[in-house]
Amino acid sequence: MILIDGKKEAAKLREELKQEVLGLKNNFKKVPGLTVILIGEMAPSQIYVRNKEKSAREVGLKSEVIKYPESIEEKIVLEKIKELNKDDTVSGILVQLPLPKHIDKQKVIETISPHKDVDGLHPMNVGNLSSGYQGSIPCTPLGCYLLIKNVEPNLSGKKAVMIGRSNLNGKAMAQLLLQEDCTVTITHSKTKNLKAECLAADIIVAAVGITELVKGDWVKKDAIVIDVGINKTEKGIVGDVAFDEVSKVAKALTPVPGGVGPMTIACLLKNTIECFKRTQK
Ligand code: NAD
Repeated sequence: MILIDGKKEAAKLREELKQEVLGLKNNFKKVPGLTVILIGEMAPSQIYVRNKEKSAREVGLKSEVIKYPESIEEKIVLEKIKELNKDDTVSGILVQLPLPKHIDKQKVIETISPHKDVDGLHPMNVGNLSSGYQGSIPCTPLGCYLLIKNVEPNLSGKKAVMIGRSNLNGKAMAQLLLQEDCTVTITHSKTKNLKAECLAADIIVAAVGITELVKGDWVKKDAIVIDVGINKTEKGIVGDVAFDEVSKVAKALTPVPGGVGPMTIACLLKNTIECFKRTQK
């Protein structure tokens, strides 16, 4: 079984991005900039943002975090986003989710310029992805896609099953695999026989948030299994895939932690650089 080492792959990607940033600095006399807006004090969000900022600086990006208290008014956040949209030193804007209840997520996403939308959640980027046009691709599915392509460069005709249909994960992942000529099934909480769907799959991407949902006898021999899930348990952080069981049948599997997570952050940096390059043309 191939244990897909997301940490190693992400380090490789970051190194490539670092070289690319050096080249851009030479050419344009400036570097891409990433601005993250963090609202509230939620511990996981604080950790994610800290990691994003650290990684951005490591590859040579200009990195800024704007922090607001939980009680911040929506209009102040929207005004700040509009200001950042006009700021030439900012290539990418990310508003860390989830947001406090009084702030409308859709309004926030739609206020970010689609050209600076490094999370790929703006409807224009969602449309670009489903039309096969250029645009930002959500970081986690992009990371999963790169990991899958590393194991299996030719995905044509493969049957791929997404578990979960969120905009952030399942739907975007499905589009990426469709572009690779996979036959794609998106499953969700109302799917009738999830085990049967999974058993037919050459590729499974689980993005649900249920501890060890995918069992060993759900997986076809030699399937590629990507575990996006992050679940806090007494054993620590575990994924949506029963790792010990599935590792006995799968051809390749991502661990949790150390699989998809590090690639998500590396892909955020990649998206920031892509946004910068598109605006310099
Ligand atoms: P979400 O809650 O938006 O979506 C979950 C999806 O799972 C829904 O589409 C739902 O229909 C489906 N679902 C729920 N119960 C199901 C069941 N019993 N069978 C099949 N499908 C079921 O979640 P999300 O934002 O897509 O995140 C999913 C998981 O991925 C979470 O654990 C989250 O923490 C994790 N995540 C990880 C990363 C990373 O970088 N590794 C990034 C984003 C999210």
